[in-house]
Amino acid sequence: MSPLRIAIIGAGPAGLTLARLLQVSKISCTIFELEPSAQGRDQGGTVDLHKRGGQSALLEAGLIEEFKKFSRPEGQFDKLVKFDGTLLLDEKAEMPERPDDEDDRPEIDRQKLRQMLLDSLLPDTIRWGKKLIAVEQSTPTSPKHNLHFADSVENDFDLVVGADGAWSKVRSLLTNIKPHYSGVTAIEQWALDVDQKQPWLSEYVGDGSMFMFDQGRAIMSQRNGNNSIRTYACVRQPQNWLQECGIDWSQPETAREKLVAGDGPFANCGDDLKRCILESKDNLVTRALYMLPVGVKWEHREGVTLIGDSAHLMTPFAGVGVNVAMVDALELSRAIVKAEVDHISLGPILAAFEEAMFKRGEMFAGKTWKGLEGHFSATGGEERAAKVRAQIAASKARS
Ligand SMILES: Cc1cc2nc3c(=O)[nH]c(=O)nc-3n(C[C@H](O)[C@H](O)[C@H](O)COP(=O)(O)OP(=O)(O)OC[C@H]3O[C@@H](n4cnc5c(N)ncnc54)[C@H](O)[C@@H]3O)c2cc1C
Repeated sequence: MSPLRIAIIGAGPAGLTLARLLQVSKISCTIFELEPSAQGRDQGGTVDLHKRGGQSALLEAGLIEEFKKFSRPEGQFDKLVKFDGTLLLDEKAEMPERPDDEDDRPEIDRQKLRQMLLDSLLPDTIRWGKKLIAVEQSTPTSPKHNLHFADSVENDFDLVVGADGAWSKVRSLLTNIKPHYSGVTAIEQWALDVDQKQPWLSEYVGDGSMFMFDQGRAIMSQRNGNNSIRTYACVRQPQNWLQECGIDWSQPETAREKLVAGDGPFANCGDDLKRCILESKDNLVTRALYMLPVGVKWEHREGVTLIGDSAHLMTPFAGVGVNVAMVDALELSRAIVKAEVDHISLGPILAAFEEAMFKRGEMFAGKTWKGLEGHFSATGGEERAAKVRAQIAASKARS
């Protein structure tokens, strides 16, 4: 193992992927994670890993076969519905067999992805229950940094990697830029044991995702593993909407009804779409969605960098956040390995890594912003249906 002392803050997809890739190259590192254990909290719903995104990192990490065991290729099928319930596209009906090509993007539950990455790490890689408060230079002239946690201080790291997500504490050392409200709030609801408890919903959503996009609102119902579905009812509204809209979110049953009745945002939707909201009744979580400005960058600082959401937080409306995070991890691992193998200083290599990441982040954040505009426009559903149809045609032409 290398003598470099590397700290990774955060055991999300970015931090775990980086740790695995470094360990594959015999470079040691420690992850510091604020959650008390791997079972600490719900990790979120399903994510799709793209061939040139998350899958490329897993391939280099030697985990692609493991990924295939847990992923759900059938989860890629989209169904697009207009606000009144009219079917715009049923991808599975138009192309029942998806070819395993460049557009391949199987779904995997975040919990499964995390467990697979955790299982791949050497024992004691992760220090759980370590909430980072601040990072500071070890001494005014040293390139090393100390980490201040809620309960301890760890000294003299050669490299600190902030993989600590939206509200990154490591980011504060590099830039004053903070995430801002994206203009979209999501009401996330779960339907558990869905085949047994909500057979209609199970059938309607199918193996993949059902999307409704409309002016200022969207509904997304996604099949997750473990016989469950998550429905996201989203509105494009000011940040205080959750508090001011007259819905008491602590009463999920009545909250759901108010979303689809009276002057609720989904009151004039088709009955099927209303059922998606009403039948996803096992949990309700409100999420105001935040983002960093598109094209965020900072001046390189020796011994500290960021990857994933901490570097370029974006909304989920292009479905790329995890993928970009894992590609960041892949590129950073390659940079660190190069410095080690060639016995050269990490500084210029890290600066070059960051320049490339800024470009990648800007490109995908721009795509995501365009996706948000499309998802919340009156013609968003039709446009997406046309795009998917073009992809199907191209895919059929290739095969
Ligand atoms: C509703 C929703 C749906 C999404 N769907 C998709 C999708 O379909 N496809 C896709 O590609 N992306 C999707 N995303 C985006 C994706 O979830 C993120 O881009 C991805 O999780 C980023 O990974 P990360 O490791 O950078 O950050 P995170 O997953 O946020 O992980 C950060 C880790 O750091 C830890 N941490 C935070 N602060 C500290 C601290 N102070 N000290 C120590 N540890 C700390 C956290 O506990 C966490 O474990 C979605 C996001 C949302 C909100």
